[in-house]
This record gives sequence, structure tokens and C-alpha cells, in this order.
Amino acid sequence: MVRVLLSGLLIVAAITLSLPTRAAQVPALDISSLDHRLLRDPVEFCRQQQPPESPLFLPPPSCRFAPLRDADINQGISDARYWLRFRLVNDGNNDRSWVIQHETSYLDNLVVHYRDSDGDWQRRRLSDRQPFASRQVDFGKLSFRHTTPAGGATTVYLQLYFDRADALSLNFHLHDSESFREAVQSTYLVYGGYYGALLVFIAMAVIGALVLRRASPLFYALFLCATAFKWSLFNGVGFQYLWPSSVFIQNEGFHIAFLLFVASALQFSRVFLKTRDYLPGTDRAITLFQGVVAVGIALRILGFYEPVLHLAFAALALLALLLPVAGWRAWRKGLQYARWYTLAWIVYSAGLLLSLASAYTELLPGGMQALSYLQVASLFEVLLLMVAMAERVLSLERDRREAVVLANQDTLTQLGNRRFLQVQYEQFKERFARNRVPVFLIMIDLDYFKQVNDRYGHEAGDVVLKHMADLLRQHSRHEDVCVRYGGEEFAILLQAVNVDAARDVAERIRTAFAGTPTTYEGENIDHTLSAGIAPVISGDGMLSVREMMARADAALYESKASGRNRTVVHLVQSETAEGFTNSPVPGRGYE
Ligand code: GH3
Ligand code: MG
Ligand code: MG
Repeated sequence: MVRVLLSGLLIVAAITLSLPTRAAQVPALDISSLDHRLLRDPVEFCRQQQPPESPLFLPPPSCRFAPLRDADINQGISDARYWLRFRLVNDGNNDRSWVIQHETSYLDNLVVHYRDSDGDWQRRRLSDRQPFASRQVDFGKLSFRHTTPAGGATTVYLQLYFDRADALSLNFHLHDSESFREAVQSTYLVYGGYYGALLVFIAMAVIGALVLRRASPLFYALFLCATAFKWSLFNGVGFQYLWPSSVFIQNEGFHIAFLLFVASALQFSRVFLKTRDYLPGTDRAITLFQGVVAVGIALRILGFYEPVLHLAFAALALLALLLPVAGWRAWRKGLQYARWYTLAWIVYSAGLLLSLASAYTELLPGGMQALSYLQVASLFEVLLLMVAMAERVLSLERDRREAVVLANQDTLTQLGNRRFLQVQYEQFKERFARNRVPVFLIMIDLDYFKQVNDRYGHEAGDVVLKHMADLLRQHSRHEDVCVRYGGEEFAILLQAVNVDAARDVAERIRTAFAGTPTTYEGENIDHTLSAGIAPVISGDGMLSVREMMARADAALYESKASGRNRTVVHLVQSETAEGFTNSPVPGRGYE
């Protein structure tokens, strides 16, 4: 009995003695000239192993306080309770108003226990599990404001914890009123720029999708929306301005936002990189990945917490590894615009992996500072992706032009084809309207070409056709249009002052062709051609494409019929009256 009484007395004495000592031990910070600082050594912290019966008690003596250093800021995923303690001493002649602000927007509970020199303990519980309107300080991150009277001191114990394990940071800012106001202002200035830029990009992407009638800008816009959602949760501006009474979105939205971000990034990438065509293996992996992400979102909505938390972090990490590699591989496979995409994801992934490491582990110092860098990186990423989109549009336009060229080109000789001749005829009409110089069509057909094939082979025939094409290019002007009209038939559409000038061109080509045999595998292949000329546009009018072809063909037929290796001009009655001859013109006459 006596022993029990004695030990009871001892305990009471120990507690009585320890209280003032403990109070005296709380490290002091001079705030007589406070501006802004981070709460660090001499500020002390402890991690409380046992959950207290009520969050409203001060830490138990068993909680061992130690100076708070940079390396302690990051506590990884934790549901433990943490304490910070310090005494704000105001030796000045004026009262000092100050603000303590936690660096994240998603801390579940921050209980501030504080006592002025002569007062009782008081508490204020701040939480993002209450509607935004209940906050003492109108800011996206939990903040506490108090005034320490002149010559006085305020002892502060900060207790912080999550209801369910999350990435815990011990990073607090301590401001005086003025510097807090400035910090809030510059923070919102940055947010204004950031979200403003995102909104502009979203609008541009939606307009691009509508104008170009393409899916990839739309998926890009969705990806940007997911990006904006994710950051508005992180910055606390979503809770402050968009859903101030939805505690649910503020607390349950994070992992869903991560997963939506992953899903939309994957979808955009799949369409943008055309993974189905270029990287079928990656395409299947993306499908599987998206399936897992969808299950994760469903589980979160159903109330599962920890598995989804780990899934969300793992999905972000996997995304950061997968997309730069996919972009790089698509680029190597010939998708030119994938290089900007790859660069975008390299920039972003580096930041993402860094911030994941700081959120998920306690390895990196500096709390969630990496997140600010990541947000800047995300803007670079969005910009680079925009460049990638622009390059993609340009490459589509390039492809389209190439397709048009190919559709108008003969593959063997690289001359234009029949279609090209028809298209160009329209241009000649306009040209004639401008300069009134008559237009002629020269039709050319190689003589006895079948025999060339029969004697030297089809390949030799092809070489002759190419030789012919070279001669056409040599003997025509830049503005003349030379085409391979069919098998061994060629045509030239040209402007000439009169029919003699046109005939000169035909004759020059005819004599050149006859005079330069084609050399093929050591053998000289002799050849000739016949030409027919029709005036197609002149002061008397213009012919339809069909009529122009018919007349040039008729002249060519005459040229063949009258012995080949010559040029014949087709003349209608009125032109004959003007003095043009309508008879075959023997080639020799123009040599
Ligand atoms: P003509 O003087 O009456 O025009 O006699 P021809 O033998 O030139 O005329 P024909 O129309 O009977 O024969 C044309 C030949 O051109 C038949 C075909 O094999 C050949 N040919 C058509 N296209 C090609 C080609 O792309 N390459 C080769 N090597 N030969 C071709
Ligand atoms: Mg023929
Ligand atoms: Mg022929």
C-alpha cells in the first residue's frame, strides 16, 4: 500500500516537474522581424507510434522529438501521426501576425495546439475533409493564422495525420501577414498563367479536331482536361473554386485523377502514334493497361482505398517508362513527328519519376517540391505535344501533296500522266486568257515499238521509253507540259506563237530521237517516232479535251499512214484558208 502510494506520489511529482521543463524545452524562433521561412531545425518533430485516444491531446512523453531537417520532410506513404513543436517569440514592440501553411493541398488533418505566454491551450482543427468554406484562411492549402502580442510568445504544437495512409510531407511555411499575402498573390498569378495556357490549348485542340475532322486532337484535349483536373486537385484550386463543398472529390478524386490522366495519355498516344499499325505489341499492351486502369477507377468508386493508391502510383510510373519508349520506337519506324512526342514525354517522365520518388518514398529530401517542377515540366510537355500535333498535321498535308503528285505521275518515266495533262489543260486556258499565245498539243507515238520489245526485250523497251522522256525534258521549256499518255505514246501541251513554232519543237524532238539510238547492254537500238500536232486554243476558240485528243490523234494517224518518222499538223478548214498546209510533212524536210 505504502509502495503504491509512494510510486503514485513519484509519478505526480515527475509530471509536475516535467511540465515546465518540457515547456521550456520547446525550441524558440524569433519572430520580431519575421518574413518567410520554412519550419526547420531548431523546430522539432516526432512520429507518434501509438494513435492517441483523441487527436486533441498533446503528444505523449514517449514521443521523442528531434530537430526537423530537410531529410525528415518526406515521410513517404504514412498513416502515422506527426508532431512539430516550436515557440514563436516576439521581442519587438509591435504585435506580430503570422501564418503557418502546409505545402500540400490534400493533408486530411492538421490540428494546431497553441498557447500564448499567459493563456490556456487552445486548438484549431483544419481539415480538407470539411467544406472549403469552413477554413480560417481562404487558401487552397491548409493554413493557420494567429497574432503573437508584443513582448510575448506563442507555443505551437502542430499535429498532422491522414485518416488513410497517403504521401506525408512535414514541409510548412511560416510567413508574416505581408509575405503570406504576396506568396498567395504570386501563386495565383502562376496558376492563372498555367490554367489559362491549358484552357487555350484545350480550345485549340477542340477546334483542330472539328476543323480537321480527326480524333487525335480530341484525345489530346481530353488528356489536357485530365491534366488540368489532376493539377487543380494538387494545387487546391479545384476545391477552392470548382467544388468547394464536395469533400468527396477533394479526398477521393486524387487517385481517380491519376488514373484518368494515365488512361487519356494512353488513348491519345495510341491514336497519335498509330500504334495499331506501327507498334502492334505496344498497342495490345496499351489495351491491357487501360483495362487495368478502368478496373482501378471502378474499385476506387466502390470504396477500395489502398490497393488503388498503389495501383495509381504504379500506373504513373509505368506510363512514364512506356510512353517515351513507344514514341522513340514509332520515330525509328518512320513516324517523323514522333520525335517531338518522344521529347515531350522524356521531359515529363523525368519530372514524374522524380516526384513519384518523393511522394512514395522518404529517399528524396525537399518534400513535395518536385511537384512544382513537375507542373512546370507538364507545361513544356503540353507545348511540345502541340508542336508534335502541328508537325503531324503538316506531315498529313505533305502526304496528301505527295499522293496528288503520284496520282498525276507516270512511275516509269517520272513524266506527268494522262490525268495530269487534263488538269494542266485548264491552266493553259487561263494562261491563254492572260497572254493570248496559242496553245498546241503534240501527240507522239514511237514507231514499230512492238518490234523493239520483241527484238531486245521488254526491259530494253523500258529504257527506250525513259530515253524518250529525257529527250522530251531536254527539248521542252519549263512551262510546257510533257506527259506519257499511254504505253509508247507521249504528248506535249505548249504555247507557241504560231503552228510553225510548235512544229519546230516536234521536229527537234523527232530528229533527236531518230539521231540518238538507245544503248542497251552494249547494243544500239535505232528508233523513230511519228508526231501529230493540233492547235487547241487560239483566238478562234478552244477545244474540249476530247476534241483536242481526237484532232491530235487524227494528225498522228495521218503521220503513221504516210510513212512514219514525220510530223503532221491537223488543220481545220478555216485554218487551211489562212494558208496552213494540210498535207503530211516529210521528216526529212526539217532536218
Ligand atoms: P506503230 O508504229 O504502228 O505505233 O507500231 P507499234 O509497234 O509501236 O504499235 P503497237 O500499238 O502495235 O505496239 C505498242 C507496243 O508498246 C506494244 C506494247 O508491248 C508496247 N508497250 C506498251 N507499254 C509498254 C511499256 O511500258 N514498256 C515496254 N517495254 N513496252 C510497252
Ligand atoms: Mg501505239
Ligand atoms: Mg507505236
